[in-house]
Amino acid sequence: MLDALLKRPHRKTLLPYGKQWIEMEDIAAVVEVLKSDYVTQGPQIERFERVLARKVGASFGVAFCNGTAALHAACFAAGIGEGDEVITSPLTFLASSNCVLYMGGRPVFADVDPNTYNIDPLEIEQKISSRTKAIIPVDFTGQPAKMDRIKKIAKKHNLVIIEDAAHALGALYKGRPVGSLADMTMFSFHPVKHITTGEGGMIVTDNEAFYRRLLLFRNHGMTRDPQQLMKTDGPWYYEMQALGFNYRMTDLQAALGLVQLERLSDFVERRREIARRYNEFFSQLPGLIVPWQHTDTSSSWHLYVLRWAEDYFSADRKQIFEALRDEQIGVNVHYIPVYKQPYYQQIGYNQVTCRHAEAYYANAISIPIFPKMSDSDVEDVLAAIYRIYYRFSIK
Ligand SMILES: *Cc1c(COP(=O)(O)O)cnc(C)c1O
Repeated sequence: MLDALLKRPHRKTLLPYGKQWIEMEDIAAVVEVLKSDYVTQGPQIERFERVLARKVGASFGVAFCNGTAALHAACFAAGIGEGDEVITSPLTFLASSNCVLYMGGRPVFADVDPNTYNIDPLEIEQKISSRTKAIIPVDFTGQPAKMDRIKKIAKKHNLVIIEDAAHALGALYKGRPVGSLADMTMFSFHPVKHITTGEGGMIVTDNEAFYRRLLLFRNHGMTRDPQQLMKTDGPWYYEMQALGFNYRMTDLQAALGLVQLERLSDFVERRREIARRYNEFFSQLPGLIVPWQHTDTSSSWHLYVLRWAEDYFSADRKQIFEALRDEQIGVNVHYIPVYKQPYYQQIGYNQVTCRHAEAYYANAISIPIFPKMSDSDVEDVLAAIYRIYYRFSIK
């Protein structure tokens, strides 16, 4: 079998690390909206919010134009302001901590667990100060963070939890869906994520006060809700009660999201199937570190990260990465620890080190995983990796 992999023909076209899956029914749903009276604020948005919230076990959903806007709104709803500290993971996309900066707050990075790559609750506790207001755990790669421990810490210190679940739609924690665990949970519908609306995001919550503040923030800080107005001049009357943005999603996007959502469980199941195949194969190859999974969690596998133990190979990560790209395997690195970014370095993070996040960054490579990958695509990935493994292995 291994010989066959070595001889398998090379791919001719690039296999991306992630990609959307659009069917005729998706196209039809968008076209329907285009023919209707509403292009933007129509009935599809509320439906999408309701259906997604119910699916993940939350009372309310608020859709946004993207996940980053959704995180910004969640920080607003949580009351993050000037000088407030919010603890998050360094091993994440920039948006998880930028949203704190948008509000004038200060992200504080707590190192990750070296096995799960998720924020380590012990590290969170060490970073708490009198200014800490919230925690933004990230369900990295689709594996939920240690939410029970994080909730205990939040309760003890009176902190809001905003779960960045951009990777984790469809994931379970102790049998409960991600979306039913934190004060607010963010999902992203960027095309590489589990379902897509082109651009898009959502916050789900059980808290009605947060729900109202999210709605306000999404629409210029403006309301027409008679129960919320401070006074009224007549039926036309509206009030701007906070400085919000135009962060609305369109009805076109929501209609697409609704159809995609119907296939979510198939999408996640296929991701799990590919991950199982990868785990089974790569765990036979010493020097390759497969993603460790906690028994409490069921990942929805947004990413599959392979780590290449330095002392097993004659090539470094960069050479291995380039060799995989030469094989037309669209590998990537998720992520550079956020505080390493030039902008963060300039605003005072040059003294920060999170040693587990940095050790991870030194040898991690994300390999393709998305539901539309065929079995043959999966075999291409195995063949390419095995060839490179074979070429550079020194043990
Ligand atoms: C994708 C992503 C976001 C941002 O979502 P967008 O919809 O692209 O704005 C935030 N956090 C993480 C961890 C992500 O992967």
